[in-house]
Amino acid sequence: MLLNTIRETQAAIQNGTLSCMDVVRQCVDRIEATRNYNLYIEVVADEAMQQAAQLDARLSRGETCGRLAGAVFSIKDVLCWKSHGTTASSKILKGFVAPYTATVVSKLLAEDAILIGRVHCDEFAMGSSNENSCYGPALNPLDPAFVPGGSSGASAAAVALETCHFSVGSDTGGSVRQPAAFCGVHGFKPTYGLHSRYGLIAYASSFDQIGYMVRYVEDLPQLFEITAGKDVNDATTVDWSYRWDGKEEPVAGKLGYLKVPEGLLDPIVEKGYQKVIDKLGADGIQLEAWEMSLEEYLVPTYYILTTAEASSNLSRYDGIRYGLRHPGNSVESIVTNTRTKGFGKEVKRRLMMGTYVLSSGYYDAYYRKAQKVRGMIIRDMDQLFTKVEALLLPVSPVLPWLVGAKVDDPVAVYYADIFTVLANLTGQPGISVSLSGDQGAFPVGIQLIGPRFADDLLFKTGLFLTQLF
Ligand code: GLN
Repeated sequence: MLLNTIRETQAAIQNGTLSCMDVVRQCVDRIEATRNYNLYIEVVADEAMQQAAQLDARLSRGETCGRLAGAVFSIKDVLCWKSHGTTASSKILKGFVAPYTATVVSKLLAEDAILIGRVHCDEFAMGSSNENSCYGPALNPLDPAFVPGGSSGASAAAVALETCHFSVGSDTGGSVRQPAAFCGVHGFKPTYGLHSRYGLIAYASSFDQIGYMVRYVEDLPQLFEITAGKDVNDATTVDWSYRWDGKEEPVAGKLGYLKVPEGLLDPIVEKGYQKVIDKLGADGIQLEAWEMSLEEYLVPTYYILTTAEASSNLSRYDGIRYGLRHPGNSVESIVTNTRTKGFGKEVKRRLMMGTYVLSSGYYDAYYRKAQKVRGMIIRDMDQLFTKVEALLLPVSPVLPWLVGAKVDDPVAVYYADIFTVLANLTGQPGISVSLSGDQGAFPVGIQLIGPRFADDLLFKTGLFLTQLF
């Protein structure tokens, strides 16, 4: 194991057994050694080394450095990074250079975290396997014949392969939590409004949140302390400050767990999920089973609303304002040619779905109805959290699949999002924890969802879960 927790790395730097330059060198070596997994589309080794050298010099002079000095990270290709390319892994943004840096990334940089590079993802963060990227599929670190999950698959793999301490991704319907589970690391999506979306290329704005993938749950609260809170550039952010007390403890009261309908889970996932429930019960945690009455509506509601929002958000990629431009003899034909050539198959499918559900004849039947169902799901979950402190559920009903195995079955892939879209529909925080000690090639991911602003409870319970196995 090369990389320890951020705090452990910092302690080693403090006592002189490690330098920031050593850490960066290790990460660069790992990036080189793992090239065949197809993760990074930009690596800034020289800049990172320079930054590390400056930090080492400041530390040796006894100067206080930022709270993330010594931590190395990567970002998903949907986060703007000033003067660097940002393409949402789409041909349509080829050549686009970000004019500013996303707020979350700026906050990390301001605390001296070292940004090592940019990893790709599913095009416009639409997908569950990282196969919809214009850079080709990223591969699973546990077995490269399999997908790493998505849409932040390369981010999760980059963390699992120890090329960085953490990776910043985005989660619209599970894109941080599901790939984390597929790659055996941990993923966290905050309460909606706690992370600024300024500088995040929008997919579905009322669902999108920036989240983290880490090897150690301990790193999450340390990062979240720095990045959560109000941003004048994002009106949906909340004035909120957070400090972790460092305590590792599970819920004080009752924990709910989702009673999953028979036949929905892969047998290995089912076994792993049951094992966790049994172990928690044996450990004296009060558990209450919860049957979700609206379960069958989760995936349709999510896909109606997110495609509708996407069709509006992605209308700005017209060949005039950003990136790619395909010639034509009128403005209309430039727009049509650019969008036809620039967008990939899955993005086009979703834009068609989105414009359809928003069209005048179908707005009431689909979009408005889905909004109402979203309200019902929110009320249902709010009610649940008057009885239990957090909800335990699987991350995905299935394990990673072989690269290429599901490219012709998008609906099957959509249905595999059933457990992760819930927290985005409600705006509640969610964490996915990979538990070691499972049999088989892939660990089973366990998810916890809490009430809005109970992010801290998820860190504590997540930590407790990792120590249980
Ligand atoms: N897999 C989901 C989708 O394809 C989630 C994507 C995401 O969270 N960005 O929409």
